[in-house]
Amino acid sequence: RDGRGQIRPYTPTRVGEASQRETTNWALVLMDALRHGRFRIFFQRMQSLDAGGPLRVEVLVRLWDPVRGELIAPGQFIALAERFHLIGEIDRWMLGEVLSLIGRHPELQLQLGQVTLNLSAVSLREPGLAQQVLASIAQHGVRPDLLCFEITETQAIGNLAQAREFMQTLHDAGCRFSLDDFGSGYASFAYLRELPFDTLKIDGLFVRDMQTEPTHQAMVRSMVDMARLLDKPVVAEFVETASVAQLLRELGVQWGQGYYFHQPEPLTFDALQQQARLAQ
Ligand code: C2E
Ligand code: CA
Ligand code: CA
Ligand code: CA
Repeated sequence: RDGRGQIRPYTPTRVGEASQRETTNWALVLMDALRHGRFRIFFQRMQSLDAGGPLRVEVLVRLWDPVRGELIAPGQFIALAERFHLIGEIDRWMLGEVLSLIGRHPELQLQLGQVTLNLSAVSLREPGLAQQVLASIAQHGVRPDLLCFEITETQAIGNLAQAREFMQTLHDAGCRFSLDDFGSGYASFAYLRELPFDTLKIDGLFVRDMQTEPTHQAMVRSMVDMARLLDKPVVAEFVETASVAQLLRELGVQWGQGYYFHQPEPLTFDALQQQARLAQ
C-alpha cells in the first residue's frame, strides 16, 4: 500500500526479480482479486491435425487490473500465487466458472469434445481436492469425460503418491489428464512412468521455431516418437505458422494449438459456438 492507503498498481515484475515489497504487494493484489472477482477466463481452440472432431479448448486465466484498465497475463502472477498458496483457490474458481457455463448451456455438452483446465502441481497437494472437484462436476451436471486437466510443471510435483491418488480418483470418474510443457519440466520421465497421463503436450518453445532450429525439431521428433511408443496422443502448442502446422501433421501429431489457429479470447457461450463451427 502506498502513503494514501490505496493498493498500489500492479508491478509488471516477474517472480525472480520481485523485491520483498513488490512480492508482498502481489499477495495483497491476488487476495483482493479473489475477493472482488477480478479474474477473467480466456480460451483457445485446439485444432485436430488429422481426423477433425468436436471442439477442444484450453481455458486460461487472466487478471483484470482496474487501475490500468488492462488484463495481466498469468505468467506474471501464477508463480507468486503458488508461493502464497492462493493457486488452489484460483484453479478451483476457474473450474467452478467453466462448469457453471456448461451447466447453464446443456447444448454445449453435445458440441464440446473436451475442455482443458490448467492445474498447478501445487494445487494437487491440497487434501480433499479430488472430492471437491467431483462434487463440483456433479453439482453442475457436467459429463466428467468432458474435462481434461493439464498439469503444469511450474513447480515439481512434490509428492508423486499424492498426485497419483488425486489423478486416479478423477480418472476413475472419467476425467482426462495431460502433461503440460513436456520436454522442459523438472522430471517429465518420472511423471510419465508414475502418473496416469492420457495426453502429452509438447512445450511450445520447441515447437514455435522448429523449422529454423534443428535442435528443437529433433527434440519434437523424439518426443513424438516417445508418445507413439507409449500410445498417447500429442498436442503441440505455439503453432504460429502454416508451415509448422504442416510439419507437425507430417510427423503424425494429432493436435495443434497456437496463434495460427486461434488467438485466445474471452470465454463466452457465443465464442464457443463460433469455434465449434470452425472445429468441424
Ligand atoms: P500454458 O498452459 O503452457 O499455456 C500456453 C500459453 O501460451 C498461454 O499463455 C497462451 O496464451 C500462449 N499461447 C497460445 N498460443 C500461442 C502461440 O502460438 N505462440 C505463443 N508464443 N504463445 C501462445 P497464457 O495464457 O499467458 O498462460 C501462461 C501460463 O499460465 C500457462 O502456460 C499456464 O502454465 C499458466 N496458466 C494459465 N491459466 C492457468 C490456470 O487457470 N491455472 C494455472 N494453475 N495455471 C494457469
Ligand atoms: Ca496448459
Ligand atoms: Ca504449455
Ligand atoms: Ca507453460
